[in-house]
Amino acid sequence: MNANNDDSFQPIPGLGSGVEVRRSARRKRTISAHREGENVVISIPANLSKREESDAVREMVERMNKHDLKKKISDEDLEVRSLALGAKYFEGLALPRSVRWVSNMRERWGSCTPEDGSIRISDRVRLMPEYVLDYVLVHELAHLIEIGHNPAFYELENRYPERLRAEAYLEGWQAGHGHGESS
Ligand SMILES: [Zn+2]
Repeated sequence: MNANNDDSFQPIPGLGSGVEVRRSARRKRTISAHREGENVVISIPANLSKREESDAVREMVERMNKHDLKKKISDEDLEVRSLALGAKYFEGLALPRSVRWVSNMRERWGSCTPEDGSIRISDRVRLMPEYVLDYVLVHELAHLIEIGHNPAFYELENRYPERLRAEAYLEGWQAGHGHGESS
């Protein structure tokens, strides 16, 4: 039986999701982690001290992050995905020449250079749900057609049906981690 000492999900920096620690009297030494939806559940022996618990949590989160980064979307996948989104929402009018992840974008979720058709996406988005990634891509793709944030731009962006849900996710993430917005 698992005893839930703390069942509140808390955001973990860099994970883009929450973590729940479950103490189990049956466990002697082993620590394990698995995903439940967007959250990570870490099971630990009931007799660990608070300090041992926080060390164990940090280690498991780092391990899962490395694992996720490996299996998550590559630059090439990102381009294919962008082309599919451009075809679906913009009748192929938004055709990026390159789309890639960047690790140095801290103030924004994505950026677009219409002159050369290049799009860069902050790798903080990499661990977020796919509907959020798609929203950030659609936003940048729309800039290939409309440079400014004007009514014509918002008409394009609004073609993405999960825009509001994705914006709410990003705002919530931002509140927990600092700044970042689509531009
Ligand atoms: Zn923008």
